[in-house]
Amino acid sequence: MAFLDAHPGLGYPAAAGLGLLVGSFLNVVILRLPPRMEWQWRRDAREILEEPDLYDPPPPGIVVEGSHCPKCKKPLSWYENIPVLSWVLQGGKCRGCKAPISAQYPLVELLTGLLFLACALRFGFGWQAFGAMLLTSYLIALSGIDLRTRLLPDQLTLPLLWLGMTAAVENLYVGQKAAILGAMAGYLSLWSVYWVFKQLTGKEGMGHGDFKLLAALGAWMGLAGILPTILLSSLVGAIVGSIWLAAKGRDKATPIPFGPYLAIAGWISFMWGQDLVHAYLRLSGLA
Ligand SMILES: [Zn+2]
Repeated sequence: MAFLDAHPGLGYPAAAGLGLLVGSFLNVVILRLPPRMEWQWRRDAREILEEPDLYDPPPPGIVVEGSHCPKCKKPLSWYENIPVLSWVLQGGKCRGCKAPISAQYPLVELLTGLLFLACALRFGFGWQAFGAMLLTSYLIALSGIDLRTRLLPDQLTLPLLWLGMTAAVENLYVGQKAAILGAMAGYLSLWSVYWVFKQLTGKEGMGHGDFKLLAALGAWMGLAGILPTILLSSLVGAIVGSIWLAAKGRDKATPIPFGPYLAIAGWISFMWGQDLVHAYLRLSGLA
């Protein structure tokens, strides 16, 4: 770490490179975790309903099974598994069967690489940067899964909450009191919006995963980060929503899940929240 601190010319490319590799793994999590969860739910449901156990082989696991082409099942060799580069060199197609490979793969890898670089630029090289990269990885996986399946799995939101609490024990970003209050305020604020909305309209405007995600973000950035995150997520939502509406037209525009907005707003608040609040106060003449 001290070596990288002394040689940022090596450190920054290393951070971005690490991000590309982690992004590759996040693609696997995004694609394989939801089918795995649904498989478990089906098994649990059969058990509760006392239905006979039928043959239902588990979908591929996240860590053990290697990557393969989703169409022809050809296993990928190491040179077909290089982040971003393999996809570009192969023209976005499988080398075996020429089936198109989703642009999600290089996009998630590239995004993770860039955000890891931002973490290193913001926090240098040490535990703070490491924690920021961990948080970033969780937020990318959660956003990807929410966009694809409308789920924010407990398997990700709950560990993220405890990781934030653990960081607070060591005062990595905020103290313990701020983290506990942040987690509580994060959960309760969206939970209240959810209940008021439900009482007034009879509809559910949000999923319980959203409360848990904001609770987790509150643990990482403390009570002071909750309000900027909520305001920023509405702003991001309004911007992305109008671009989406303009691109797709009103009838084709399906509501976008809230999780990615929370993740984007939370990440920005976590990285530059204090600076943003100060800049806003200065601009509005309040300080
Ligand atoms: Zn193939």
